[in-house]
Amino acid sequence: MSRVAPEIAPEIIASIKSRVDIVGIVQEHVPLKKAGKEYKACCPFHSEKTPSFTVSPSKQFYHCFGCGERGDSIDWMVKYLGVPWREAVARLAEMAGIPLPENDDSALVKAKSDVSRTLEKAARWMHRYLMDTPRARAYVFGTRNVAENTAEQFLLGYAPRVMQDYSVFSLKEKEILVEAGVLGLASGRMYPKMGGRVMFPIRDAAGWVIGFSGRVLEVGHPKYMNSPDSRFFHKRRELFRAPDVRRAARAANRVVVTEGHFDAVSLFEAGFGYVVAGMGTATTPENLESMFALAPEVVFCFDGDEAGQAAAWKALLASLPVIGNNRLASFAFVPDGMDPDEYVRTHGQAEFARLLDESVPLSRFFIETFRARKEATPLEKHSAILTEAASRLKSMNDAILRQGLAVALSEVFGVSAAVVRSAVGFSLVQAPVKAAAPSVRADALETSFLANLLRRPWEADCIAADVELKVQGGTQIVALLRMAGLRNGCSADETRGVFLDEPCLPLVDRLLASGELDEPLAVLGKRIEADWLNRSLQSAMASPSIDRALVGGIIARRAMVLQSVEVAA
Ligand SMILES: [Zn+2]
Repeated sequence: MSRVAPEIAPEIIASIKSRVDIVGIVQEHVPLKKAGKEYKACCPFHSEKTPSFTVSPSKQFYHCFGCGERGDSIDWMVKYLGVPWREAVARLAEMAGIPLPENDDSALVKAKSDVSRTLEKAARWMHRYLMDTPRARAYVFGTRNVAENTAEQFLLGYAPRVMQDYSVFSLKEKEILVEAGVLGLASGRMYPKMGGRVMFPIRDAAGWVIGFSGRVLEVGHPKYMNSPDSRFFHKRRELFRAPDVRRAARAANRVVVTEGHFDAVSLFEAGFGYVVAGMGTATTPENLESMFALAPEVVFCFDGDEAGQAAAWKALLASLPVIGNNRLASFAFVPDGMDPDEYVRTHGQAEFARLLDESVPLSRFFIETFRARKEATPLEKHSAILTEAASRLKSMNDAILRQGLAVALSEVFGVSAAVVRSAVGFSLVQAPVKAAAPSVRADALETSFLANLLRRPWEADCIAADVELKVQGGTQIVALLRMAGLRNGCSADETRGVFLDEPCLPLVDRLLASGELDEPLAVLGKRIEADWLNRSLQSAMASPSIDRALVGGIIARRAMVLQSVEVAA
């Protein structure tokens, strides 16, 4: 399975593209309206009120006149769905019935397509079974109050408890159901492992069914049973409804994460289209990657009981290494021991929207949790709590946020920032050990920026966070200058004094000895940012699977920065 896949001939790709229908492929994710020879919609790549996104069946192309995004059916799968290029080609080839040269990708996609086709069939079959089973109907449509068309749209199902009922599946299909955990295998005999459960199909980025979550009716243990990890299903990565919420999450700029699948269902019915549910495990780094791929802000909305609180804290700890740099995490706490489902049904949509808007930012949740623990314990234990709090900061990659939390902790415990710093065991303003050590390299622009900053250290507070992060060694120098709070007109010796015990002293000495003040710091900062954006853009465009959101964001940001350079200069 490890040999290198041969290239796919351009003629094969051309014939795949000519046989699939781009209108149908796009329509699966974006509602298109016929307009003359073409189809129109509001662009899924940028936000707009009037449609400028067109799909042309004759040219087999999509094009947005607003943001310039364009491409063929392969580009669509890569840029919109985030499917790797080779897999996109293999999926479309499968759709078009065109055999690809034997290679690992095509074999894997073929296998995945077989599995997914069977699981889709099982999902539809179990949906009909739900509709025909009074006990299951009473639970889903009665107790849980789900609307019938929602159940149909999500393909909610019910798994029969009698093995004989599964005779509609061939042996090969049953084997796939065993791999997906719908059926179990004991002493060589198959049995309905998820029998008697409400079934939620779990889909991958492109909407293929890859597994199931089964929930017991009423009470029982375990409450949720998931497909086991397999070739195509990874519990740590999947989220219920992830592919369906892409557009809504993009429009709202946030995604809400609940514990229970029924929470996601009833919030959808209440008009919150950007809610996904975890797979019953604690939040994992892989989950977080999937969540932040949907939107820059993740709101964790867990049950208002002790277990929910504990899950929220675990989500916070898992988020520490990945938040910052434009990624936000916050926590909406459902009151009175309710779950989000009960809350929105009891208090209505507006109240739930308020709950989301008042969600607690991660930084506040972090500090308030340690404050509460400190206040509930005798003085003798405070140093242990502070040590634990400080040790949590070590996993963070956003230097500014880490620094801010350290200062807030020092205030809670009534100690100096230096005490927190020594509890962390390394200089807070340095990158954590995990990150690549900053090289001494600094190009002319960056050198000039830092040299100018060291001559006007009182301006450190005005440096934009995203500029300092882009300059080698910048974060450290800016943070130390900010803490020192030097007065306007201070001497070079006073400035140097700030760095006496720091590893960056040699760099500071070189900078202090070099160059003259030539341009205002603000202009230099903008130039650095524009330069950095240019490089990011080049590397984003060079990547084999282009991230459309990333590229669009960089281009927009660069335009803003270039404009402000002109204004400032
Ligand atoms: Zn557009």
